[in-house]
Amino acid sequence: MRWVHKEYFFFILAVLLPVLCGSFFLLANSLGGEIQIAVIVEPPKPRITCFNANDLTTLNTADRTCPITHTFLGDLPLTESVTAQGVVAEIHPLLLTRFNTAAAFAKADGINLFIASGFRTLSRQAALFQRAVEIRGSETEAAKWVLPPQFSHHPQGLAIDVNYPGDKIGALWLERNGAQFGLCRVYANEWWHFEGVIAPGGRCPPLASNALVDLK
Ligand SMILES: [Zn+2]
Repeated sequence: MRWVHKEYFFFILAVLLPVLCGSFFLLANSLGGEIQIAVIVEPPKPRITCFNANDLTTLNTADRTCPITHTFLGDLPLTESVTAQGVVAEIHPLLLTRFNTAAAFAKADGINLFIASGFRTLSRQAALFQRAVEIRGSETEAAKWVLPPQFSHHPQGLAIDVNYPGDKIGALWLERNGAQFGLCRVYANEWWHFEGVIAPGGRCPPLASNALVDLK
């Protein structure tokens, strides 16, 4: 008797099941396609990049933190430098870490990078702006090179001048390689001025012709 049951089973599997499924989909379509099949897709885990300045390796990981051998350079553009007292008195720590990491990689290419000017107090920036006005003849012409203190990113700890005034080759290395560390040259008329305007590994925005773009 067993073979009879087996035969029924195969009959159901081979003939009845496809017919039933087909009928179901026909019915579903005739009802206006109201029955939808939900496909659940897991969102990809956010990844971070970690840098080892000693052996010059990078690590892209879905972990939330970098291993102790590696440094995390942040995963966002650096837009504000907030301190406990609300007073900025230094280069944004992540901007400095990005620069130091880039400098370690540059050294392996025989390039020496240094920060010629980073954080500036508001009064120092005001004095620099005033001097630029005297030299260039107007506030607008001056601001193409030195912004007034309330607009400049130096007193905010968000800008560094690299290898100024004499070492353009070093700055060019940073311009070409800085994006992986989240560092970008931002002004066409200042080869030395860099900011952390992207996340490490991002793409630097096109150069603004000069600093007037930040007068807002
Ligand atoms: Zn600058």
